[in-house]
Amino acid sequence: MEKEKVVIIGSGPAGLTAALYTARATLNPVVIAGAQLGGQVALTYEIENYPGVFNPEATPTGADLVESMRAQAEHFGARIEYDEVIEVDFAKGSPFYIKTYGKEYLAEAVIVTAGASPRHLGVPGEEAFTGRGVSYCGTCDGFFFRGKDVVVVGGGDSALEEGIFLTKFANKVEVLHRRDALRAGPALQRRAAANPKMSFVWNTVVDEIVGNGTVQKVKVSDTSTGEQREMKTDGVFIFIGHYPNSKFLEGQLEMDEHGYVITDNLMRTSVEGVFAAGEIQDPIYRQVATSAGQGCAAAMQAEKWLSERE
Ligand code: NAP
Repeated sequence: MEKEKVVIIGSGPAGLTAALYTARATLNPVVIAGAQLGGQVALTYEIENYPGVFNPEATPTGADLVESMRAQAEHFGARIEYDEVIEVDFAKGSPFYIKTYGKEYLAEAVIVTAGASPRHLGVPGEEAFTGRGVSYCGTCDGFFFRGKDVVVVGGGDSALEEGIFLTKFANKVEVLHRRDALRAGPALQRRAAANPKMSFVWNTVVDEIVGNGTVQKVKVSDTSTGEQREMKTDGVFIFIGHYPNSKFLEGQLEMDEHGYVITDNLMRTSVEGVFAAGEIQDPIYRQVATSAGQGCAAAMQAEKWLSERE
């Protein structure tokens, strides 16, 4: 059993910022990285809205930002474990029990920054064709669709940002949105509208994804008329929001009806000594800048809580 002052669960911008701050506070934190170092931002193509990270000649990628955050946190003493948490026991209070695939920990304080994952449509064919034409990440899979036609499902910032990225590879990117007005912000809407490879199919939902080995078409319905039709496509990229990665915390921390961990404005959860930051507790802002800020706040509160106990 490893005894630690602070264990940080998750390595996205919230986790790596919490690691930087707790490391600089000489708490020698351990970050349990989870399935993907950096979380969702590691798979983001371009970072244009994180203050201080700006190069108009060569826009930094999400991977660049994660690498820089990781190096900075490790430089100041954070230790990163490339492992996943499978169980926690917070009921007995501090020190808190945390089990990963490879180790067991007892942590005086815990900062939960396990993030969120892309939501699925839940239609026939989606699961069967995942990795064979169905994708939740343009940056990861766009390359496989060179010269092909793809559809993007969703009308938010992710759908447009990823759709614009996909035009680098695909011949045609059709955005299927269930309403006739986008949720995405005006800057992305302008860029999408100006992109000759992009078009929009309004009031449309996907009922089924069909193929033979790989995706060949989608069956769709018009939400205003109910009319059904088929659209030929080689790929279906789904960007319809996210759900928090909080399954392993069920029964341990108070959550809302969607599974987001409830925190107060000091990033405290329902268990004293356990703090949370980033998308695991934030269904609203979900930006690199806000997650990093929340990670910083959680780290400062964890440090204060630990020092007051001594
Ligand atoms: P989002 O804003 O929640 O948008 C999800 C989209 O999917 C909405 O247009 C929604 O339609 C649609 N949708 C939801 N469920 C659906 C279903 N079952 N079938 C069909 N369509 C469905 O999610 P997001 O785009 O992932 O963005 C999440 C957050 O991250 C936002 O706060 C966003 O601003 C932020 N973000 C920012 C950037 C950036 O600043 N560059 C980039 C990416 C994401 P309705 O509109 O009808 O609800």
